[in-house]
Parts: sequence; structure tokens; C-alpha cells
Amino acid sequence: MIIINGNNLLNLVQKESGQDIQACYYCHKCVVGCPVSKYMDIPPNAILRMIQYGEKEKILKSATIWLCTACETCGTRCPNNIDIAKVMDVLKQMAVKEGVKGKEKTIQIMHKAFLAGIEKRGRMHELSLIRDLKLRSGGLFKDIKLGIKMFQLGKFSIFPEKVRNVKEIKKIFKKIRSIE
Ligand code: SF4
Ligand code: SF4
Repeated sequence: MIIINGNNLLNLVQKESGQDIQACYYCHKCVVGCPVSKYMDIPPNAILRMIQYGEKEKILKSATIWLCTACETCGTRCPNNIDIAKVMDVLKQMAVKEGVKGKEKTIQIMHKAFLAGIEKRGRMHELSLIRDLKLRSGGLFKDIKLGIKMFQLGKFSIFPEKVRNVKEIKKIFKKIRSIE
């Protein structure tokens, strides 16, 4: 496991996200357009500034990186074409790699459960995802009524399906792990 120092945070995030974070001139357009910014503890543009200052710990512990839904609204509004969703993705993976537990624990657990499901089958199976999420986060029967209703509406299939060549998916995960 590679622990990233605050000093090289900017270089690393820029390299992995492919975004020119230093081009941000703090105009706020991304924050105004973000559908979830009012729930974030740090606005998305401030995250970019904090990356420049190497404030890794505060960023990785923030709720913001997990609340970002990767909707890409900010990227389309940004006059400098900065795709913040890609930056957030790098930060999420960094938090996972370093075992940082942030404020949004349930979303973090869901992120892990989702990726585990994709690695196993190449596609998401809602029922397995919910089961894994509930087992890992507790409250197995908490939303049971809602679950039954969704099942009755045909939103879940009981049996998971796999993509045809799931070996290729596993290879991708293996390759990513080898370069981390
Ligand atoms: S819209 Fe772009 S330039 Fe403006 S604050 Fe957001 S990231 Fe920075
Ligand atoms: S990608 Fe994330 S930060 Fe950007 S607008 Fe969507 S939720 Fe907000």
C-alpha cells in the first residue's frame, strides 16, 4: 500500500484524474450547479484548492468525496473544463486504499460492495448489493417493507446474472491492483 504525502498530492491527483487542477480560478460555477453541494461539508472547488495545499487528511475524511454522485454537471459548467467527478473518483480510491474512514461510512461500504459485485459478475445485482450493504452496515431488516414493495414492482431479480466473459472483468481488477 502506498501512503501519499500531502506534498505530492497535487501531482498524483492531476496525473491519475487527467485534470489540470491548477487551472481552477475559483469562480464558483461548479458549486452553484452541483445538485448535492448543499449537503457537502466542503464545496467541490474548495476540494481543488485543498489539493493544491496538500491537505490530504481533511479531504479524505470529508463527506464531500462520498456525496459526489459523479453527475458531471460541474465539468460541463467549468470554464476551464475541469472534470471534478474524475478528481473525486481518484480521491475515493485513495481513501479506500489508505483505509481512511470518512464521515459517510454507509456510502463507503456501498462503494466497496458495488465493486465487489462487479468483480464477481461483471454487472450489478441489486438484491446482492442491498444484502451486502445491510450485512456490512447493520440493520439487515431496516428497510424490509420498501424491499418487498420494490420486489413486487419487479425492480429486483432474485437470481444474479453474469456477463458472458467475466474472466475479462476479473483481469481488469487484477491489473488495477497490480499498478496500485
Ligand atoms: S467551475 Fe472550474 S474554474 Fe470555476 S471554481 Fe469550479 S473547478 Fe474552478
Ligand atoms: S460531479 Fe460531483 S461535484 Fe460535480 S456537480 Fe456532480 S455531484 Fe457535484
